[in-house]
Amino acid sequence: MRQNMMEDNRIIRGRDAQRMIVETAWEMAEAVRATLGPKGMDMMLVDRMGNKVLTNDGASIINALETRDPIASIIAEVAKAQERNAFDGTTTCIIYIGEFLRRADELIGRGAHPNAVIKGFRIGLQQALEAAVENSIEKDPYEAGREAATTAITGKSAEDFIEVLADICARAAIIAQPSEIKLLTVPGNPKDSHLVEGLVVLKAPMTQGMPDKSEGNVLLLESELGPPQAQLSLNDPDKIAQVVEMQTKYMQEILNRFKKNNVKILFCQRGVDSRAAQWLRKEGILAFKNIKRSDMMRLGVATNGHIVSDPADINAEDLGHAKATVHDSINSYVSVIGKEVKAASIIIPAPTEQSAEEFQRALEDAVGVAHLCVQEPLVVHGAGTIQAQMYAAIKSGTPAENSKVEAARLAFAEALLVIPQTLAESAGMDVMDVTVRMSNEPTLGVDVHEMELVPMSVFEPLGVVRSALTSAVENGVSLLRTHAVIMAKPIQEIFADAEK
Ligand code: ADP
Ligand code: MG
Repeated sequence: MRQNMMEDNRIIRGRDAQRMIVETAWEMAEAVRATLGPKGMDMMLVDRMGNKVLTNDGASIINALETRDPIASIIAEVAKAQERNAFDGTTTCIIYIGEFLRRADELIGRGAHPNAVIKGFRIGLQQALEAAVENSIEKDPYEAGREAATTAITGKSAEDFIEVLADICARAAIIAQPSEIKLLTVPGNPKDSHLVEGLVVLKAPMTQGMPDKSEGNVLLLESELGPPQAQLSLNDPDKIAQVVEMQTKYMQEILNRFKKNNVKILFCQRGVDSRAAQWLRKEGILAFKNIKRSDMMRLGVATNGHIVSDPADINAEDLGHAKATVHDSINSYVSVIGKEVKAASIIIPAPTEQSAEEFQRALEDAVGVAHLCVQEPLVVHGAGTIQAQMYAAIKSGTPAENSKVEAARLAFAEALLVIPQTLAESAGMDVMDVTVRMSNEPTLGVDVHEMELVPMSVFEPLGVVRSALTSAVENGVSLLRTHAVIMAKPIQEIFADAEK
């Protein structure tokens, strides 16, 4: 039906445009609804090549919906923005948009003007946000971060190791910004996950016998380290001796430069000749070879050093400064603590590649919410409680004068209950009963495991709740304001036509 509308008519106006928007938003909410909360179900994403992945992450599902639908892609953008800004709450945000637009559509169908609906929703939003702040609990940053990380990990495969992981996430968030927290997966058992201060490079020193700790100047070398290669036939012993002498001299010079500049730690992007490695060892330099370009860049930032392309022209100002420690285990690695950037690394041993990816995704979110909590250590009760609290606050809040606006304000309050309702539904609980009881007793939460309503100690950052709600309302509103959807030709073509 919608398809025809689009094909027959390139411009969809007014009420038809609105219906199309509401319908799309609703479909997207439907697509992710079943994944909400710890009892949320996994969905299998299958791409055109037949690759499959199981996920219960709303953002991944929305991203995976291959769509050219303009409305759907706007909503997908909203989900991405929520993920970027708040690291969590994406499914919630999509469910809210679907619910808000459905309620708006009903009100408009009953004769309310979209502007009245928008006004009522905005009043409701303000009252809800105030209630969220009033109901928030201040915790010590580590505690808040740990609680939020725990909630974020719940329901994912990483849940089996939730205590170790939530603690690591909170400690990491106290040390560094999320962009400077690197997650490294290695083969092994997730219970051995640990936090390392500084930046981690998964490499062992290039030869045995190098120090396992060093502090001082760091050289980041791009090129290979070894004597220049000579083209010669091997049957002229004099020539060979000459070349060897030349090579030795060359290496000696380079090494003298290292010494003169007091290089203590070397990271080489390419290979290092074995003789050169022995020289470095004798000089007590801690050296690593075959370092990934991306690690070289990160080392540059962390140690405040420049990547040098030729060992023959090292300058003091190119050198970084750091403390490096070699950790010897099944997966040897070196941690580097520079002065410039506060970095942290989380090492997550995982048994399979797929589980490694799942852990990585789960921990990215968890580190993110822990970071939000460290910034603003205010948490609210999750498991549907915060929505019931916001609902109650709006219900008892100052009414709007205009009756249509007031109807929208109240509809907004009811829309918030979609979250506890969806959690209840995922647990197979009676949705009507949950709605009635939680609207009367907004301190209750949905215990999806025990299938009962009790005060729950599930905490979420206030920041996630605020961001999901605000962006759902603001984006819902701008969709409601959309008066016409014009199926335009590619924007580039429009410009090309204009130039002619
Ligand atoms: P989102 O993408 O919105 O973060 P999730 O699938 O992570 O979606 O579900 C988040 C919802 O699940 C929140 O409303 C949160 O309060 C709720 N939740 C998290 N842990 C629990 C729990 N142990 N019991 C009940 N609800 C929970
Ligand atoms: Mg979540």
